[in-house]
Amino acid sequence: MADLSSKNLKLAIQKEGRLTEETLEFLRKAGLEFESYKQRLFSTCKNFPLEIIYLRDDDIPDYVASGTVDLGVVGQNILYEERPKVKKLLNLRFGSCSLIIAVPKESAVSQIKDLKGKTIATTYPLSVKYFFKKNKIAVNVVRIKGSVEIAPALGVAQAIADLTSTGSTLALNDLRILTKIYESEAVLVANRKILSQVSKKIILEKLLTRFKAVLSAKNYKYVMMNAPQNLLPKIRKIVPGLKSPTISPLAKQGWITIQVVVKEDVFWQTIEKLKSLGVSSIIVLPIEKTII
Ligand code: AMP
Repeated sequence: MADLSSKNLKLAIQKEGRLTEETLEFLRKAGLEFESYKQRLFSTCKNFPLEIIYLRDDDIPDYVASGTVDLGVVGQNILYEERPKVKKLLNLRFGSCSLIIAVPKESAVSQIKDLKGKTIATTYPLSVKYFFKKNKIAVNVVRIKGSVEIAPALGVAQAIADLTSTGSTLALNDLRILTKIYESEAVLVANRKILSQVSKKIILEKLLTRFKAVLSAKNYKYVMMNAPQNLLPKIRKIVPGLKSPTISPLAKQGWITIQVVVKEDVFWQTIEKLKSLGVSSIIVLPIEKTII
């Protein structure tokens, strides 16, 4: 049974929605052990002083700002829209999406200035109004809570502004993207006061170390490969690695096996260069955590 009056840190996450699965997976990767199932309102971590509270995602910023909970995981989009007084601590690298403006495929609108005097339906009215104000284009913005994509077909609006990740819902509704307002992903936010409470800050720092270890592991892959020993100087230039690579001799005369950590963003270029050098049997493994 969770004890919400305890000194444990309280972290609010989305109860049911797009961010839920990935948030739970992220917390588990950080080594936190807890039970969770759909009907649950909160969980106590078994191995860390943390309570997880399941809430509607658009309520999370207010709960964090007021100090009802100490921390929250929400989409950056909600921070842009609600501008709550919370401190953003980390980008969590999941829940990626963009707030875009779209018009019906057959619309004559080809650039944002063509939207002057037109109506735009959205769940994010403040973000949209701010965008058009910055671009000095006068538009009408109507707030719709769900199924925004259908607004043009219903004649409610000539354009929409909505979140998208794959674009498939837009395509299904015969809409085409005109422009992007911003990109978003899940973020960790904190109540501003807990940062000055020593006991909470100590727990928070431990939690952040775990979260950062999961995040930095995402940036690297562990690569094992076999190569003739004389290629080693060239391989070293291609993959300098986190520190120095681990090298061991193979039973085959003049051959070695090399284990090295490669950065995700240059991963494919690195593998292609290695292959063209004549490196063989390349095995790639994900890294769970890096604590440097
Ligand atoms: P939902 O569960 O639909 O309320 O979405 C929760 C959050 O998921 C949003 O606030 C966004 O931060 C994020 N998200 C990621 N991809 C999408 C997407 N394609 N559409 C809507 N929200 C998305």
